[in-house]
Amino acid sequence: MSDCTFCKIVAGRLPSHRVLEDEHALAFLDIRPASPGHTLVVPRVHARDVWEISEFSHGKVADMVHRVAALLKTAVAPDGVNVKHNAGEAAGQDVLHYHVHVVPRWHGDGLRLTWNSSPASARELEKVLERVAAVR
Ligand code: AMP
Ligand code: ZN
Repeated sequence: MSDCTFCKIVAGRLPSHRVLEDEHALAFLDIRPASPGHTLVVPRVHARDVWEISEFSHGKVADMVHRVAALLKTAVAPDGVNVKHNAGEAAGQDVLHYHVHVVPRWHGDGLRLTWNSSPASARELEKVLERVAAVR
């Protein structure tokens, strides 16, 4: 994808702060970090989101997320970490090349990546399972 920002970063046509790379994936620092060490992990082969990426490529990105989380744990000593992928505008996806956010967290850092929710009834959960079972 010639006009994709992350394809350009993968190809070295845009600058980036590379954390880790291998044959299948690349990890680089987010240019607008939510916290110090905020890293993005992307596949080298373009895919829009979790619905488009191949299971193989997704697995390779997941492997790198695992390695990046371990690296950041040692490098910046966070109290926790959020691992997050946004797919689609409704979920807040801005760059349309699959990427996983690895966001180090500290107690009291003030970041808000949570949502409001309330317990569902067993019937509600079962209804969802029925819909999944119908297409599985
Ligand atoms: P999302 O909203 O999940 O699509 O996240 C896109 C992320 O990409 C944002 O956190 C941006 O700060 C980040 N971003 C956009 N352009 C660049 C870039 N050239 N280098 C590094 N990170 C970028
Ligand atoms: Zn791309």
